[in-house]
Amino acid sequence: MKSRRFFLQKAGLSALALNLTPFNPISAMTQDIFNTKQDEKPLRVAIMGLGSYGTRVANAMKDCKRAKLVGVISGTPSKIEAWQKEYGIPAKNCYNYETYHQIKDNPDIDAVYVITPNGLHMEHAMGVAKAGKHVICEKPMAINAAEGKKMVDACKAAGVQLLVGYRMHFEAKTQEVIKMRMNGDFGKVLFFQGLSGFVIGDPTQWRLNYPRSGGGAMMDIGIYSINGSRYMIGEEPIWVTAQETKNNPEKFKEGIDETIQFQLGFPGGAVASCLSTYSMNGLDKFFLNGLKGFAEMQPSTGYGPIEGKTHKGPLTNPHVTHQTTQMDEMAAIILDGKKPLVPVDGEEGLKDLVIIDAIYKAVKTGEKVSLV
Ligand code: NAD
Repeated sequence: MKSRRFFLQKAGLSALALNLTPFNPISAMTQDIFNTKQDEKPLRVAIMGLGSYGTRVANAMKDCKRAKLVGVISGTPSKIEAWQKEYGIPAKNCYNYETYHQIKDNPDIDAVYVITPNGLHMEHAMGVAKAGKHVICEKPMAINAAEGKKMVDACKAAGVQLLVGYRMHFEAKTQEVIKMRMNGDFGKVLFFQGLSGFVIGDPTQWRLNYPRSGGGAMMDIGIYSINGSRYMIGEEPIWVTAQETKNNPEKFKEGIDETIQFQLGFPGGAVASCLSTYSMNGLDKFFLNGLKGFAEMQPSTGYGPIEGKTHKGPLTNPHVTHQTTQMDEMAAIILDGKKPLVPVDGEEGLKDLVIIDAIYKAVKTGEKVSLV
């Protein structure tokens, strides 16, 4: 990112020469240039998978300052046409699943955001990497750690970045709690509770179809409690125990978990106790307890506004559409090498997949599974 100094040099001005009063025309002109951010190259993004979340991201990107939606990849021509109209996407930036490899010859696209069903993330992300474009991939990054590792390796080999759509890592109230924990405001943290769930509808949807989903509630919503326990406690778990309850085996077939309770043990002595479910509504709560204080967030990972308080009072940071902040921050990570407060790279996505694999193993064996 070019700096303010760059602008002052370009304008033949120095900071000392400027009279920074509200009515100074030179100051106003310079400020205007800063606001339009004409010096900052945008991250030009194509979205792959024009479904419900892809649409949410596209709408949120209308307010982005650094990220710009410029292309689409879809198997449905009518959706492509509608998106071209809605988002002003040129025909030369439109692809389907047979042609998207040609994106390598398109200099006007920097990154592809993969927002397809979980079971297709690896194939799609690796295809994008092979085409030499940066990959942003929705959560879960893949359906198991072995797939996730292949994605990380493929992106490294292709020299492209791999980021995972962990929008909460950029959310202001979440960041406030993380900073308080880093500051020692909670004292020694010994307990985290994460509750993540909703009642899933249509039994024919891909989320309940193992090859497409890779699992049930854990893959879809339980991952928020896994990821949240890690960024809230600030450590990596060393063991897992887990128990499954299945009340509706007709709807939740083999490989599709309905409800799993799981516990994660952390090296500093903290324990996370979490619930992941497709059968209870409105479960979206985080609770962090330390020897000197607490944080409580409910809702904690929904689209917001996030609500919460700590022992010091309510969390008051303003709400911004999560995906708008996420995409601008990801542009800065990819284009400027910015380091986020909590990582969002492929290694971060892989850590959650290793834990998910261990949770499924713990459910199957009934045993405590070591992560070290
Ligand atoms: P969706 O069903 O609404 O959209 C999926 C899209 O993928 C559709 O446009 C569909 O046509 C396309 N697709 C391409 N190939 C397909 C195939 N072979 N089978 C089925 N669909 C195919 O799903 P969604 O809710 O948009 O979820 C997509 C991804 O986004 C998932 O990985 C999900 O976990 C993730 N997601 C993330 C968040 C978040 O807050 N970060 C929220 C919702 C969904």
